[in-house]
Parts: sequence; structure tokens; C-alpha cells
Amino acid sequence: MHFSVTILGSGSALPTSRRNPTSQYIECNGRHVLIDCGEGTQVQIRKNGIKLQRIEHILISHLHGDHYFGLVGLLSSMHLLGRIKSINIYGPEGLKEIVELQLHYGGSRLAYELIFNVLDAKDNGLVFEDDVLAIKHFPLAHKIPTIGYLIQEKPRERNLRTEIAMADGVKIEYFHRLKKGEDVVNEDGNLISFEKYTKAPKNPRSYAFCSDTKYFEPIIPFIKNVSTLYHEATFTEAFMDRAIATMHSTAIQAATIAKKANAKKLLLGHLSARYDGGEEHESEAKTVFEECEVVEDGVKYFI
Ligand SMILES: [Zn+2]
Repeated sequence: MHFSVTILGSGSALPTSRRNPTSQYIECNGRHVLIDCGEGTQVQIRKNGIKLQRIEHILISHLHGDHYFGLVGLLSSMHLLGRIKSINIYGPEGLKEIVELQLHYGGSRLAYELIFNVLDAKDNGLVFEDDVLAIKHFPLAHKIPTIGYLIQEKPRERNLRTEIAMADGVKIEYFHRLKKGEDVVNEDGNLISFEKYTKAPKNPRSYAFCSDTKYFEPIIPFIKNVSTLYHEATFTEAFMDRAIATMHSTAIQAATIAKKANAKKLLLGHLSARYDGGEEHESEAKTVFEECEVVEDGVKYFI
């Protein structure tokens, strides 16, 4: 069972040779999701060996250019490469109009359907759900309406204790119900207990994306106990005044949110172009929350 995030861009407004604008690719048990699509995202997708046409859902956080300027290019390439399968795009109000206007004046007609889903950036709720995952959204606090996302793996089936079940002569036809946590009464009237023949599965994993935002405690209930939290950390403490003025967070603020939300792991990104590495961010954040690291472009992190 696979759940990972590949960082395609970990920079902020100005791209650098080390960090592209924001984009992330999430694989969750056979589902493929793109979060944000800054300029250069499709090049990063190629460089990282990701299959473009597998992407089924694109989640856009907000309409600052470093989070979506790559979107029309990506959608056009999907068309040129022969896509016919529709794609779901979620984001704040205005995104649909912007994309359609760009396509319209370029005389572009896509051979596949764009299914836009406008999310209310002030509200929270379910974005998408199937039998593998659920995607939820919640409000962040930034200069313009901005959406945070939570991707939750669905609870998995219990694990069969195959050897014990076989040794006791439990019929294979009962395995399916036992794995679902149901007791079975066999044809002789004997109870076959799921607790005896199965083990509890691992806890479902989850991933939260919080960029861009100022320090904003109201997000904590939405991301409580998350397995991996990605939180923007545009600045270090020395630039707190810039963080306040631009409604971004410092590394220590991101770490404080991770701690209060009881996250297992924290990934820091959206670093200002004034920084080269992220050593300062990481050491500052670790004074509050030990399990953290600054992400790098082109690296896959397991949830
Ligand atoms: Zn922004």
C-alpha cells in the first residue's frame, strides 16, 4: 500500500535554480493527485518520471501565480499527448474563468473535459471520496481566499491470519467477511470469530497541505493527528515582520501548528528566494517540533 508525496516545487513567489514554485504529486494506493501547479510543473513532472495522464484530480490552493501559472500549460500538454479522459480541477472562485479565457483566446479546444469544482475558501467540507481515499478542504488565512487540503486514506481491511485459518479448516469463502470484521456462522452452526482469524490493520494515514497561510490556529481541528503535515515556512524568525506583512508563516510558527495538531511528521516548504538551503528553517523549527525537515524539489516523501 503506497502513500507518498513528491515535491515538484518547494519555493515561493520567485523561482530559483534550486526551488520551483509550488506543486506536489500525491500517490495514494493507486490514486494520483496534483496539488498546486506553479510555473514549470510539467517539466518537473517529466524530470521525476511521473506519468502525466495518470493525474485524476488537481487541487489548487489559491490564485497567487506561484501556485497555478503552470496549469494551462499542463492541461494543453495533456491534450497534445492524446488525453481523452476527463480531469477534475478544484479551487477557489475565478479559476475556471481564468483557464477558459486563456484557452479561448489561444483557440484551443481540448479533446477531454475539464470538470471544475468551485470550493468556498471560507468553508470546510468534502472535496472527493471513493473507496480508497477522501479529500477534504478547509480555510487558510492569507491575502486572498486560500484553501488547505487533507487527503485521508480509507481504513483498510483486517489482515487474515492465513495459517491459523487454514489449519482450523476455515473455508476460503468466509475470508472476505472475516477481513471486513464480521463473525461468520458456518454450516455446522459454529461461530467463526473474525478476531481469532484476523489482525487489525494499520491506522489509516493522512496528509495535510497548508500553503499559503499566516499562523492560523483555527486549522488545527481539521488536521488533528495527521500523519504528515506540509506547512509553509516562507521565513525564519529574523523576518517575522515580512511574515506578518505578507500573511506567511515562519518555521517556528509551522512547527507550533504541527505540535498543537499532534502531527507525526512535519514537512516545511514555500521558502522565500532569499534563502538558499533550509538549514536555518529546520534548526529553528526543531526547537519546537523534532520530527521535521525542509523539503527539496524532486524528492519523494512517504506518508
Ligand atoms: Zn500566496
